[in-house]
Amino acid sequence: METVLNFINGKQVASKGTTVSPIYNPATGEQIRQVVMSTAEEAKEAVDVAHRAFASWSATPPLRRARVLFKFKELLERDFDKLARIITEEHGKTYSDSIGELQRGLEVVEFACGIPHLLKGEFSEQVGRGIDVHSTMQPLGVAVGITPFNFPAMVPMWMFPVALACGNTFILKPSKTDPSLSIYLAELLKEAGLPDGVFNVVQGEREDNEVIIRDPRVQAVSFVGSTPVAASVYRVCAEHGKRVQALGAAKNHALIMPDADIESTANALLGAAYGAAGERCMALSVAVTIDDATADKLIETLVPKVNALRYGPGIPKEGEKENDFGPLITQQHLDRVTGYIDSGVEEGATLLVDGRGKKPSGHEKGYFIGGTLFDNVTRSMRIYKEEIFGPVLCIVRAKSFEEAIKLINEHPYGNGTAIFTNDGGAAREFSYHIQAGMVGINVPVPVPIAYHCFGGWKHSAYTQLNAYGPDSVRFYTKMKTITTRWPDQYHIENAAFSMPTL
Ligand code: NAD
Repeated sequence: METVLNFINGKQVASKGTTVSPIYNPATGEQIRQVVMSTAEEAKEAVDVAHRAFASWSATPPLRRARVLFKFKELLERDFDKLARIITEEHGKTYSDSIGELQRGLEVVEFACGIPHLLKGEFSEQVGRGIDVHSTMQPLGVAVGITPFNFPAMVPMWMFPVALACGNTFILKPSKTDPSLSIYLAELLKEAGLPDGVFNVVQGEREDNEVIIRDPRVQAVSFVGSTPVAASVYRVCAEHGKRVQALGAAKNHALIMPDADIESTANALLGAAYGAAGERCMALSVAVTIDDATADKLIETLVPKVNALRYGPGIPKEGEKENDFGPLITQQHLDRVTGYIDSGVEEGATLLVDGRGKKPSGHEKGYFIGGTLFDNVTRSMRIYKEEIFGPVLCIVRAKSFEEAIKLINEHPYGNGTAIFTNDGGAAREFSYHIQAGMVGINVPVPVPIAYHCFGGWKHSAYTQLNAYGPDSVRFYTKMKTITTRWPDQYHIENAAFSMPTL
């Protein structure tokens, strides 16, 4: 059985750990590889290596660091097909969705290539007579990224391109369910000319994360995953005085106004709710209407479309059309999603389309489930309160625009949200009052482009600075502000004991 290894100091190395975790192809249910959970010593060794590599990499001029990333971008493009196939094999999403994920990660690499400009700092001349002030942005040291299963390429690439471009060294701890991409990316970085020790990968689960997070030489931790773990990582990092951004779960609402074009809205909802089998933190999982006529029209349009969704393996057979979505990640997660649908029925929601127990023929052992659609979902139901992370869309019938906004704002998660309307005033009111970090106006999945920032509100993100974009440059650097006076003006006659006012 092929084993996915660690990557430490420029080499793939086998772990001495004894806990082995199987890696499955979710479309077939067959084990395809395995990964060994690293020991505490191996986690510590990765920190030793990254700490040692920091002195030289942080002193490398930003332009040279950017050149490594330019080369890395070229290599990513060269290997897009191979990378996408690995994502689809281990995660299950469709091949074109894997390509889309890689493209969104690549865009952060492109952003990071502009690091010489982004690190320019600020300068103020003549703040006092003969005195100037400038600020520099210096790297922190060892940065760590802990990433979830649902974007094995994109989420790590939200983190390490900017961290490395800023002059930090990096340790990636990927999800144990689809870890192969992490090693492939490490090899591409090496091929691009990144010095050994600057980027390392430690496979594992939670105990070794604890070792890494608590190590005093680790300066910054970026975490993306479920909310309870995000909250605990945030707490541990805060207790240990580390910089931390911890992004968590979501329940993204779409508000469908009475004037929305129902056909386009239904198509937008279909892709955003069922794409990637709903395993996206920006999936739209709740559709809110403010009048029954719109809800009824939406249902009439959606039901046949949900019934017609095609799910199956992420890579179609020669000559066949690609499926709309693939399987869920594990049997355990399939059971969880099925359990949510059971609970929706028990709690009185109207089940319009039931995806339970549906499998594409020939893939009976895969972790498949069909698309599910619920109507008359209320705020007290588990299917409304909790993140399902599966292909399940819930329709909630509010009675007014104000009630819909209040509903969305009172949900504990606030990652993304969207409004569908032709009314500019309503869209403006919505985007102004809504309590969520990312808003789409007739855009179902408003994941910001790489030169803006990604981040949710409320329990969807514990952070002061968001992921990628300009915030990430602040996150991965510390600012130093230098006040200068040169000798020809340097004549201090008397000591000043009060606060200098320049
Ligand atoms: P998860 O929380 O189970 O795991 C995420 C990572 O944390 C993994 O690498 C895991 O090994 C590690 N981990 C687990 N327990 C830990 C602990 N006690 N201490 C430190 N690390 C620990 O999440 P998942 O199931 O892999 O991913 C799905 C979740 O991620 C969903 O809730 C989804 O909404 C969320 N997510 C959020 C975003 C976002 O941007 N907000 C993006 C993608 C996924």
